[in-house]
Amino acid sequence: MLTANNPNRKSWIEVSTESDFPIQNIPFGVFLTQDDVTTIGTRIGEKAIDLSALHQLGYFEGIPLPEDVFLQDTLNDFITLGRPTWRQVRNRLADLFDLENNELRSNNDHCEQILFAVSSVQMLMPVFSQDYTDFYSSMEHAFNVGTMFRGPENALMPNWKHLPVGYHGRSSSIVVSGEDFHRPKGQMKPQDADVPVFGASKALDFELEMGFITTEGKHLGERITVDEAEEYIFGMVIFNDWSARDIQAWEYVPLGPFLGKNFASHMSPWVVTLDALEPFRVASPKQDPTPLPYLQSNHGTFDIELEVFIQPEGGKENKICHSNFKHLYWNVSQQLAHHTVNGCNIHAGDLMASGTISGPTEDSRGSMLEITWRGANPITLSDGTERKFINDGDTVLMRAYSKKGGMRIGLGEVKAKLLPALE
Ligand code: CA
Repeated sequence: MLTANNPNRKSWIEVSTESDFPIQNIPFGVFLTQDDVTTIGTRIGEKAIDLSALHQLGYFEGIPLPEDVFLQDTLNDFITLGRPTWRQVRNRLADLFDLENNELRSNNDHCEQILFAVSSVQMLMPVFSQDYTDFYSSMEHAFNVGTMFRGPENALMPNWKHLPVGYHGRSSSIVVSGEDFHRPKGQMKPQDADVPVFGASKALDFELEMGFITTEGKHLGERITVDEAEEYIFGMVIFNDWSARDIQAWEYVPLGPFLGKNFASHMSPWVVTLDALEPFRVASPKQDPTPLPYLQSNHGTFDIELEVFIQPEGGKENKICHSNFKHLYWNVSQQLAHHTVNGCNIHAGDLMASGTISGPTEDSRGSMLEITWRGANPITLSDGTERKFINDGDTVLMRAYSKKGGMRIGLGEVKAKLLPALE
């Protein structure tokens, strides 16, 4: 039972109506306190909650949890415990912080040990991802990019509507929101040049994506079916999959993305469970042609608003995209079923990203490549400067939230500032 999701529940911790983190959310993350303690935690409103301290103080009594499961620097061990345990922990936290419950609230000493201002803690990478897979599941994005390179008649490759196209990325360069990074250098071939050149990328782009984090899968050789896939998904994050378009364009034939993609990707720090997103489940776009039976899913997807902002150095945030997760043609169950249909195994903490999530309108395009149509139509920011791609000193922010009938559950934000290329 998802008692944690009760929409009527209120917390004794103050939560503003515009907060992404009401008591019905209860996401999981990892943070560092000012006393240099690393712990797994959750968040309600503007309070970060130390789960290892709560566990030590006995508040999870009756739930079978290893003693040190929250005294970790990643969520991996907790994720491995499986969905029934995640649910028990979320339900217990919802009860403890319910307005009607004084058990913890009345104990000032305990409250001091477990509650921190969000602004006083440093969020760390929530998971250790052994593997990272990037899908390409937005039809609008695939169509836009295909049109740019091949024209609208051949925009979608013949396989695109038959399987969720993806590739294996690199997990070592995935970092948490807030970590600045440098413009990459590499080899590229300018359109008017006869030979390639080496230098800093001139076409640094973001990709608006969301990612899901898996739990431990099955043995190598066994597949996860489309109907059981969600049992293997812990939760979701916002994901900015930075791309150097000029490096990518020159290197990608015939084996696909490589150095144009693996220099940095940023993840939002709070993992929001699929359980918390349950009230926002909606139908997926109709699939035509009908996929093969192993990919047929009636699970639908989630209605999650997505926004992208560019903030120039010392300047204001400029909203440049408003998209929605629900536009994705392939849902998370189909992605995971396809990924494992050949017997490929997965581990707790693995990250599966959606691919750029563009919508049907021009203001819902999820990359600068599409927004400026490869630089042909630059955009003007509120300070009067133009952008074809991302400039040094720019911070790119992405936010994600679901809203329905007065209830708001969000994923917070992922942000990162682009620094000049290193010598
Ligand atoms: Ca990507």
